Amino acid sequence: MVQKDFSTYFDTGDYLFKEGDNGDFAYIIESGSVEISHSRGNSKLVLSNLGEGDVLGEMAIIDKLPRSATAQATEPTQVIAIPLDYIEEKITESDPAIRLFLRIIMSRYRDMRDRFTHVFEGIEDFNKTPFQEETANTTAKIDNILSQYQSIQQRLNTAVNTAPGNHEENFGSEQTLISTKLLVTQDKSIKSALQDEEFVLHYQPIIDFKSNQIIGCEALIRWADSSGKLILPWEFMPRAEMTGLIIDLGYWIAKEACKFQKRLTSQFLQPIFVSINLSGKQFEDASLVNSLADIMDEAGVAHKMIKYEITESLLMDNHELASNALHRLKETGAKLAIDDFGTGYSSFSYLHQLPFDTLKIDRSFVSAMANNLKSYEIVKTLVHLSHDLGMNVIAEGVETKFEVQMLKQHQTDYGQGYYFSRSLPDETFIQLVENQITEKTEF
Ligand code: C2E
Ligand code: CA
Ligand code: CA
Repeated sequence: MVQKDFSTYFDTGDYLFKEGDNGDFAYIIESGSVEISHSRGNSKLVLSNLGEGDVLGEMAIIDKLPRSATAQATEPTQVIAIPLDYIEEKITESDPAIRLFLRIIMSRYRDMRDRFTHVFEGIEDFNKTPFQEETANTTAKIDNILSQYQSIQQRLNTAVNTAPGNHEENFGSEQTLISTKLLVTQDKSIKSALQDEEFVLHYQPIIDFKSNQIIGCEALIRWADSSGKLILPWEFMPRAEMTGLIIDLGYWIAKEACKFQKRLTSQFLQPIFVSINLSGKQFEDASLVNSLADIMDEAGVAHKMIKYEITESLLMDNHELASNALHRLKETGAKLAIDDFGTGYSSFSYLHQLPFDTLKIDRSFVSAMANNLKSYEIVKTLVHLSHDLGMNVIAEGVETKFEVQMLKQHQTDYGQGYYFSRSLPDETFIQLVENQITEKTEF
């Protein structure tokens, strides 16, 4: 191994590190390729092959646990090796929020990998199978185990979801396993998923409590992997943010959602707005507001029919940046909503300085309202204060008729949630609006 500054060379067969080693370096591959594997007895299980631009060995650096896999150069390989003390120094100098964020992401990532490894450890004949055969059989085995795991998981989820008082989204391990498979074995990047058009937007209706009709919808992204399975945003959005790919993905989302709004306007007389979620990283892009304005113009939508949703926590973490961009975004004529309200720490007086049109009450308050007087009072107060500040209110996560009745009593303007509909593919959403018009149905 020849070391010059951070640039390091490994010959074919050299180990970058072995399973169980302590973390000393994180690596970025400049050229060549590195195989990541697990050893069990005399057998080796290849988890992935990494190439130019990939990062490895970062987890043991951040969370200080031993290496969970072995990394070996499979051809002459040039890497940038970043030493532990250098990374530690940079982490110590960084904002405490960034440190916390890094640790959380790394421990989640490791947890996903560990679960993946446990699945392999469940293969009884693993030690007996020769390496080559093992590698060839890997995908089939994962699929087999996944399908067994999924059927158990589905039954568990059904039991849990139908239990009284449970309002959690079905974020089962099934999704974790599928996306881990994507991350580790296929190492499928978000970039190529964008190119391969594997992302899709679904639309969840937003209902006007006065007319009981659809008044708008929220665009929610899904990743349809090559097998057609839908992966939910919490599985890949943090990664998209980490890698900065959220910028490209964010523009793709805005374009698709604007095209859909245009389609709704040309097809239906009643105005239906489309909400687009923006994430924090997008605000670091100085051209965000101009680009969004261009996207709305190119799609030919009335700007007021597009609503941008920004979470309360985004606002707290990027105050200066976000506040400036929000005022400019508002000047384009688009609408603005504050999302997940109640989960952060913003005060109403502070909210008043920002040009929001809509406040979305987080679903945790909505679901707690029926059994908890405090939540009931919070919802009531939030609705009245929002109205006093000239904002309308959307209640999120509405799941029962009783919740609808209570929200209507409080003069909540709009509702969104499984009680009305889950998010739907574009065609299904259009069909729903059509039915509402032709059959005069009400929610
Ligand atoms: P969010 O903006 O709060 O979106 C609402 C989430 O709540 C959606 O989950 C939706 O499926 C779920 N939901 C809606 N009604 C109900 C209900 O009645 N009960 C329960 N339990 N859940 C309900 P989803 O689609 O998994 O999205 C999760 C989060 O991912 C979103 O939270 C948003 O923060 C982010 N996200 C989704 N799509 C995009 C996107 O296009 N861009 C960005 N930047 N973020 C997105
Ligand atoms: Ca949202
Ligand atoms: Ca929300």
